[in-house]
Amino acid sequence: MNKRIYLSSPTMHGLEMKYIQEAFDTNWVAPLGKNVDEFEKEMAAYIGVKHAAALVSGTSALHLAIKLCGVKPGDIVICSDLTFSATVNPVSYEGGIQVFVDSEYDTWNMDPRALEIALKKYPQAKAVLVAHLYGTPAKMDEILALCEQYHVPLIEDAAESLGATYKDRQTGTFGKYSALSYNGNKIITTSGGGMFLSDDEAAVKKVRFWATQSRDPAPHYQHSEIGYNYRMSNIVAGIGRGQLVYLNEHIQKKKQIYETYKKAFEELPIQMNPHVECSEPNYWLSCMLIDKDYSVTPTQIREALEKENIESRPIWKPMHLQPVFEGHGFIAIDKDTDVGGDIFSRGLCLPSDIKITEEEQERVISIIKGFIK
Ligand SMILES: *Cc1c(COP(=O)(O)O)cnc(C)c1O
Repeated sequence: MNKRIYLSSPTMHGLEMKYIQEAFDTNWVAPLGKNVDEFEKEMAAYIGVKHAAALVSGTSALHLAIKLCGVKPGDIVICSDLTFSATVNPVSYEGGIQVFVDSEYDTWNMDPRALEIALKKYPQAKAVLVAHLYGTPAKMDEILALCEQYHVPLIEDAAESLGATYKDRQTGTFGKYSALSYNGNKIITTSGGGMFLSDDEAAVKKVRFWATQSRDPAPHYQHSEIGYNYRMSNIVAGIGRGQLVYLNEHIQKKKQIYETYKKAFEELPIQMNPHVECSEPNYWLSCMLIDKDYSVTPTQIREALEKENIESRPIWKPMHLQPVFEGHGFIAIDKDTDVGGDIFSRGLCLPSDIKITEEEQERVISIIKGFIK
């Protein structure tokens, strides 16, 4: 059997160990310490945001963003539909209700036209929550303008898009609050972890407070609010500091993988996940979309790849099709449109591992070409 080709696995460089060693040498083996402080500063500087709070996951960052927006039981939050469930689950943690907004075909992200319909219908929404799918920025000008017009704060889920830019601005700088993830398969990883980003210093302080069990300033343990244990460990932050140095290198490699697929499929009834001209994705995952009415399904390709020990993955199943969100609102540009459902049915995430060799990618491509001519 050939060596397994992964969708997206961790790529370590050795520098990570230096920071971990430092934490051991100074005995800061705790959810605080120099690595945590420096990782926050380094990441905020990279993104171009004023403040960052290192947390245990992207999900926890999104949860605290939802809390900051004051979401209470029964409140509406307008969310991306075509995304990972982690984007939208935190709304439920606070008792809020997700209304899902369909995607457009230019970026696969939230369609601003559908967002406008949703905001007209739910002007009382507590937040708009937008994910940048597979590392491709959403149409931020249009989305931000609508959020401003309706006075609804924007939360950016930049878990998949670290390093991607829209009009030369990093994703994670558009939202009032933003979230990053350093999970094992993301473009850089700390094994597990995340970050909350904002220009609002008070908001980031509040996040740090909630994330460390909401301890009031008192010599004894005093609490006026419910707290969480969400702070990143100093060991984990050390991995992050080592990884961040290589982020741009990772993006270049991911882009090269994407361009190779794109070129190979040029003459075939396959499109690659698209982006708008004014944006530069981080190319986290390369995804293919089989032309409508072509006789081959993504499942056939995925199973053929799996037989050769090659990992691929279906597109995220849209949230409005998930049993757990049955009965929630789904807003598309008209009543028969379901762009997310269509992309789900025709798309496939292809191996986009930073360590994939040219020969390995050629093998992936030739298996796909065996089906689609
Ligand atoms: C990975 C991911 C998250 C969650 O991040 P964790 O660090 O795994 O909690 C949230 N949203 C999207 C779109 C993701 O891909």
